[in-house]
Amino acid sequence: QANLTRMPAWIRQNLGRGHRFPDTARAVQGLNTVCDEARCPNKGECWSRGTATFMLLGDTCTRACGFCAVKTGRPTWADADEPRRVAEAALHMGLSFVVLTSVNRDDLADGGAGCFAATLAQLRHAKADMGVEFLTPDFRACQAAAADLFAATLAGLPEPARRDLVWGHNVETVPRLYKEARKGAQYERSLDLLRLAAGLPGVAAKSALMLGLGETRAEVLAVLADLRAAGVTRLSLGQYLRPSLANLPVARYVHPDEFAAYEADARTMGYTWVKAGPLVRSSYYAEEIQDAQTDA
Ligand code: SF4
Ligand code: SF4
Repeated sequence: QANLTRMPAWIRQNLGRGHRFPDTARAVQGLNTVCDEARCPNKGECWSRGTATFMLLGDTCTRACGFCAVKTGRPTWADADEPRRVAEAALHMGLSFVVLTSVNRDDLADGGAGCFAATLAQLRHAKADMGVEFLTPDFRACQAAAADLFAATLAGLPEPARRDLVWGHNVETVPRLYKEARKGAQYERSLDLLRLAAGLPGVAAKSALMLGLGETRAEVLAVLADLRAAGVTRLSLGQYLRPSLANLPVARYVHPDEFAAYEADARTMGYTWVKAGPLVRSSYYAEEIQDAQTDA
């Protein structure tokens, strides 16, 4: 393995704190964000722009993916008021687009889908045209029920609040690397979920991969083709950065030109929204999709 102790020049973590950073920090107090829990390298930039990604259902995950900094254990978080508090924080931050994600909650019968649905309803009741993106777990035992619940939640909202939901689920890496990187997940199961997401009226399906875990270009292109075949229209590709020594090592830093080539490939395959670059994360500039809300 190459000497990877020094990051290449194109990985520049934005540690700066712009004037909106303290407001964002205040607004999310008492809630969890993936910006913090996953030690995202873009926190300085995103929080300074007034955006953050809310992490529902606590900070403890029932899985232990090799690349992820979120802690694993038996979750105890149960806060029936969380959907309302998230909506309040989003309004306070002046957001017009909100990304909601969660830890895996394999311990819950609904996998946590009810909390996503309730938060969507709160957000849309507070602001009917609030852009909302779900970045969900794979809902291992309850995929169809989760899809039905989200469809029913949208249908129960007044117009115009019943459309334009982005449902993201990250396949994260190529199937060959699942054993080390995504224990507890199955590639085909993730594709099944994305197929359900893409099949919901008014919903766009999105997915993401991290590069630099040891995948080949041919393997990545095969995954992009599988995702398109499942109906996914939005894609983000970023560099895997090791969040701690306990996580998988970086196998390779992918050059920005390679990201640009993947982006071109993805557009040729028919993706309508693509973000690809070393520091791209699935929620990075997610709000920009507002311009593309009609392509679902
Ligand atoms: Fe938070 Fe997403 Fe920005 Fe990272 S890219 S700081 S997770 S909003
Ligand atoms: Fe992290 Fe994996 Fe849990 Fe998601 S499912 S929070 S990636 S450990």
